Amino acid sequence: MQLRFLDALQLLRSALGFPFIITSGYRSLQHPLETLKLSPGSHALGCAADIGVYGERAYELVQAATSLGMTGIGVMQSCPLVGRYIHLDNAESRPFAPRPMIWSYARQGD
Ligand SMILES: [Zn+2]
Repeated sequence: MQLRFLDALQLLRSALGFPFIITSGYRSLQHPLETLKLSPGSHALGCAADIGVYGERAYELVQAATSLGMTGIGVMQSCPLVGRYIHLDNAESRPFAPRPMIWSYARQGD
């Protein structure tokens, strides 16, 4: 994991004051989701985490993330494996992944 991302994640956790349930963190290039990509995703680059959260805390998380350095926010409403989660990353812009950006998932993905 990139220290810059871990520092941002800790800052966010400290600001919000509730525990983060990390449902996905670093992924190797051999991870099934990463093998589907043309180039490494933010999890494989070590600058992303998926956080299991919903309701008021999800709102607070997104609100704080945008002001504390996160540049990518993805919202998953119903993953069959881990339920609801919010993807956070502080990846740099790339041609295929401009930042800042917010998106929702149709199925488990990035
Ligand atoms: Zn993710």
